[in-house]
Amino acid sequence: MKEALSKNGRLYVRGLNWIGDAVLSLGALQGLKKVRPDLHVTVGAPPATDGVYRLSAAVDAVGPPPRLRSGRRFDAAMILPRSFRSAWESVFLSDRRIGFASEGRSLLLTQVLDYQGWKRTHRHQSTYYETLVRALDPGAAFEPPVFFFSETALSGARLRLRSFVGEGEQAVAVNPGAFYGRAKTWPSHHFVRLLDDLFDALPSLHAILFSGEADRPLAQEIERRLPHPRLHSVAGELSLPESAALLSLCDALVTNDSGMMHLGSATGRPGVALFGPTDPVATGPVPPVSGRGISVLSVPTACAPCLLRECPIDHRCMERLAPERVLSEILTVLKGDTLP
Ligand code: SF4
Repeated sequence: MKEALSKNGRLYVRGLNWIGDAVLSLGALQGLKKVRPDLHVTVGAPPATDGVYRLSAAVDAVGPPPRLRSGRRFDAAMILPRSFRSAWESVFLSDRRIGFASEGRSLLLTQVLDYQGWKRTHRHQSTYYETLVRALDPGAAFEPPVFFFSETALSGARLRLRSFVGEGEQAVAVNPGAFYGRAKTWPSHHFVRLLDDLFDALPSLHAILFSGEADRPLAQEIERRLPHPRLHSVAGELSLPESAALLSLCDALVTNDSGMMHLGSATGRPGVALFGPTDPVATGPVPPVSGRGISVLSVPTACAPCLLRECPIDHRCMERLAPERVLSEILTVLKGDTLP
């Protein structure tokens, strides 16, 4: 079944469970909305990512994934995750269900896309989502994800920023965590060294530590090792939309490969992403429509990308990524930049 959705059709999108993936999927939904602005797009997303979908102009409604036999009906259901469960819970929502073949769920779908074929191409994850929306409209093309903040959200973020950073001073956002696992995190002693050198190099620079609740101990460890009047933390304190709004006001971002990296891209902030066990070709930051964007730093390591959550050896892919390289890159980003 490949016919176009009828005018003003109702599309259900089963959203993703990881923040970075959810941000990337917005780029595909934006592309779909561009060619089909009449569609009404409802995203069913878990609490971990519903805040991402609420920041997009391409999404008309967001809620928890509908339960089986919820009574709601859609003209089509697009299943973004590859899990059996996500396809199963969508069976009673629409007669037309689009998704990639995986986990033996093809019988639950009415339009099955070739996952192994896509995987063999070794392209960026954004092309996975683009393939899905093109199954609905071949003219849909991935676009760099963009967030829209309400004036209330931005006012709150400005107030929070001003509680740390004075007029005319700069702020760099720092994300020392990665929810996926410790293997993706740059060592805390490197973060400490980087921040210490940054504070020396730029007397009006402040740093704000961001993280989710799970990675709060990493932020606390950095604060403990580097007590400094210009080092602040919101780790574990903000909702996802609050974090994104505050991040959008910072001058730059230093981050591990994480959901925060993709949030940073979508807010248009420039910065540096530190890659070790993962593959920037597949999951690197999406270049913004304009501006410098987030550049990737890594060191060639024979065992990378291993995609492991915990390093079984000496974590050389991250240990050997020297703070001096990151310092040089982030100083270039910060040069001449001031707070909006
Ligand atoms: S095995 Fe290699 S690539 Fe994987 S985390 Fe350890 S050092 Fe990094």
